[in-house]
Amino acid sequence: MIGNQVVEGQLYFDGCKLEELAKKYGTPLYVVSEDIIRDKCAEVKTSFLNKYPNTMAFYASKAFLTISMCKIIKEEGLGMDVVSGGELYVAIKGGINPDNIMFHGNNKTIEELKMAVTYNVGRIVVDSVDELLVLKEITEEMKKEINILFRITPNIKCNTHTYISTGQKDSKFGIPLIEEIIKEAINIAMNSKYINFKGIHFHVGSQLFDNSSHINAVKNTADLIKNIKESMDIEIEELNVGGGFGIKYIEEDDPKPLSYFIDAIMKTIYEKFNEYNLKIPRVFIEPGRWMVGEAGVTLYTIGTIKEIPEVRTYVSVDGGLPDNPRTALYTAKYSAYVPSKMNEERDKVVTIAGKCCESRDIIIWDLKVPYSIERGDILAVMSTGAYNYSMASNYNKIAKPAVVMLRNGKDRVVVRRETYKDLIALDVV
Ligand SMILES: *Cc1c(COP(=O)(O)O)cnc(C)c1O
Repeated sequence: MIGNQVVEGQLYFDGCKLEELAKKYGTPLYVVSEDIIRDKCAEVKTSFLNKYPNTMAFYASKAFLTISMCKIIKEEGLGMDVVSGGELYVAIKGGINPDNIMFHGNNKTIEELKMAVTYNVGRIVVDSVDELLVLKEITEEMKKEINILFRITPNIKCNTHTYISTGQKDSKFGIPLIEEIIKEAINIAMNSKYINFKGIHFHVGSQLFDNSSHINAVKNTADLIKNIKESMDIEIEELNVGGGFGIKYIEEDDPKPLSYFIDAIMKTIYEKFNEYNLKIPRVFIEPGRWMVGEAGVTLYTIGTIKEIPEVRTYVSVDGGLPDNPRTALYTAKYSAYVPSKMNEERDKVVTIAGKCCESRDIIIWDLKVPYSIERGDILAVMSTGAYNYSMASNYNKIAKPAVVMLRNGKDRVVVRRETYKDLIALDVV
C-alpha cells in the first residue's frame, strides 16, 4: 500500500506505522517514500517520455538531493538538474552520467563553470551575456567543448507566491525577453569555437495548478525563435520548459496530473512551431517539487503546550525552522496529524511552533488536532519531501534529522542523524 492509510486509528505511510518509525529512529525525522518517487518517475515516462518522441526529463535536484536519490534517478533513466558546484559534486558522486546533467544558476562562479566543463556536463544553462563571456574564455583556455541553452525570462506572471515566481520581467533569473540582447548572446555563442548553442530554457515558477503560464511562455518563446530564424537564419534544437508542477499540501489544493501540463505544453509547441514553419525541437522538463514533495513526511515529538486564553494555543515540537523553513520563508501551508489518534475528532485549533528563537518559527498557524493532544504525542507533517531536507540549517545549533527511506513496506536510513559532535566538526581551534 503506497501513501497514507489508517488502520485501527493508526496512520501508516507506505505500509509503515509512523508512530513506530518515530520510536525506532527518534524525532525529528524525515521519512521519504521511495515507492512514491518511483511512481512519479513512472508517470513521467507514461505521460511524457514514452508518449512524445525526442524528449528528456531532468529531476531538479535542489528539491531533495542525497546519494540514494541519485541512485533512484539513475535507475529510472532520468537526468538531473543542478544549480551549484555542491549539487554537481553530489550528482557525480551519486553516479549520474554527466551527459544527463543540466547545470543552472544565475551566478555560477568561475570555479563552478570550470568544474562543469571538466566533468563534461551535458548542458550548461547560461543565464546572462556576462556569464556567456566568462564561459567563452574558460572553454578557450581549457580547449573543451560545451553545449549550452540560454535561460530566458519569458515575461510571464504566474499564479503562485511571488517568492517562487521566476518568469516575470523583473527577475534575477534568465536573460530578459528583449530580442537585441538574446540575439547578441546567440551571436557570441555562434562565434565561440567551443560553445555549442543548442536552444532555449525557461522556468516560470513553482507550485502551479494551472497550465496557462507554461502555455504563454511557450507562445512567447516560439515568437522569439521565429524572429531569430527570420533575422539570423538559426533554428534551435532543444527547448527546456522547466518545472513548477504543483502538489497537494492541504485539503484545498487541487493538483493536476502531469499530463494536464505536458499535453497542453506539447500541443502548444506543435501548433506554434508548425504555424511558424520551425523544426519541432527536442523538449525537456525539469520537475522538482512534483517528484518528491508528497513522498515526504516529517515526524516530531510534541513538547510544551501553551494556551493563551482567547488568543491561541501553541503546541511546540522538537524541530521547526531548521528542518522546515518554508512556512517562515513563504507562508507555506501544511496538513498534519497525530498518527496514533486518527480515530479521534479533530476539534481543537492550535498553532504548531518550532523550538527556535524566532517568532516566525511556526510550521502550521492553524491546525485542527484531537482535543486530547498532549506532550509526548507524535506529529506527522505531510508533504515535506521537497525543499525541507535540502533547505535545512543548524540554526540554534540544532542537529539535522536523519532521513529514512521506505520501500516495499521496509525502512532504512539513507542519511544518518547529525550528532552534537558534527556541530563542531568544522571548527578550527
Ligand atoms: C527549481 C527549479 C526547477 C524545479 O522547480 P519545481 O517547482 O520544484 O518543479 C526547475 N528548473 C529550474 C531552473 C529551477 O530553478
